[in-house]
Amino acid sequence: MQLNPDELIRISNLKVTFPLDEGTVRALDGVNLSIKRGKVLGVVGESGCGKSITARSILRIIPDPGKIDEGEIWLRTTVGSSDGSERMVDLARIDPNSEMMRQIRWGEVAMVFQEPMTSFSAYHTLGDQISEALLTHRHVSKREARQRTIEMLERVGIPNASTRVNQYPHEFSGGMRQRAMIAMALICNPSLLIADEPTTSLDVTIQAQMLELMQNLRQDFGSSIMFITHNLGVIAQIADEVSIMYLGKVVEHGRVGDIFNDPKHPYTIDLLNAIPKIAGQRKDRLVAIEGNIPSPFERVPGCPFHPRCSRMIEGLCETQAPPEIEFGNGHFAVCHLYPKII
Ligand code: SF4
Repeated sequence: MQLNPDELIRISNLKVTFPLDEGTVRALDGVNLSIKRGKVLGVVGESGCGKSITARSILRIIPDPGKIDEGEIWLRTTVGSSDGSERMVDLARIDPNSEMMRQIRWGEVAMVFQEPMTSFSAYHTLGDQISEALLTHRHVSKREARQRTIEMLERVGIPNASTRVNQYPHEFSGGMRQRAMIAMALICNPSLLIADEPTTSLDVTIQAQMLELMQNLRQDFGSSIMFITHNLGVIAQIADEVSIMYLGKVVEHGRVGDIFNDPKHPYTIDLLNAIPKIAGQRKDRLVAIEGNIPSPFERVPGCPFHPRCSRMIEGLCETQAPPEIEFGNGHFAVCHLYPKII
């Protein structure tokens, strides 16, 4: 597999299942997506659509008993190269417990989780935990690791960083903990930062500060960002491109302007209609998406969105899987509506 020169990572036909006593959950059912160097890809969808499992597949930290059944995850990396040159590795084929995967995790691909309290140990200072990432992945002395940790805490906006480096996670507010989590993720200067709903548990003021911080850090560090959220409003502020996921598949992808101004897939259109509009009339009601996501054990035939789709074509959508239709500039949607129009 050859990645395009501007691509950092490409996921092709990724399928992940969870074999359980009650049946098999198809968490990912053929995910295709790509992230360009230095760009932000927003990944959007309702809970259970496979956003987080896609991220965890990249890091090979899928919870038990989940497993990758099929597909490829090609990453451009310098890990394992003696002269620092880049090569492509298929992360789906690497042993999750191998030294190479350990080096890629945090060293090249780092993740910011929704609730940092569950990611930090309560028994060690934040400074020690952030320094540890640096000591594990980069050849630096303890003194240098501590100094760089303080600088990074300052960089993400933590005041009195040289004092707070000695404090424990419970001594930080939610917003400050999230900043510390970002500092830990960026301390090794990863080529890809995965942010999984990083602002969901924060109030709107702190949320806006976090988005601005991530934009600034992206420019300074040149990292690509995979920004996972259920909130399209957040995506409009931070992303260059957007992938919309539904039931373990990417159903539409495009540049952020194309998705917001000319959405093609009925699910994307419904998601956009569900965003509250400040300029709307008082009588305007929020449009809710009809129906619910099917049971995770259920396999929906044809188009997975057909039970909820207001534009479903009877006799076609519920029986045949829709094709991927390209609209130019990398914008595509997986839907039966368009071959007849274009
Ligand atoms: Fe709706 Fe049919 Fe398109 Fe699916 S394929 S989104 S059911 S129109």
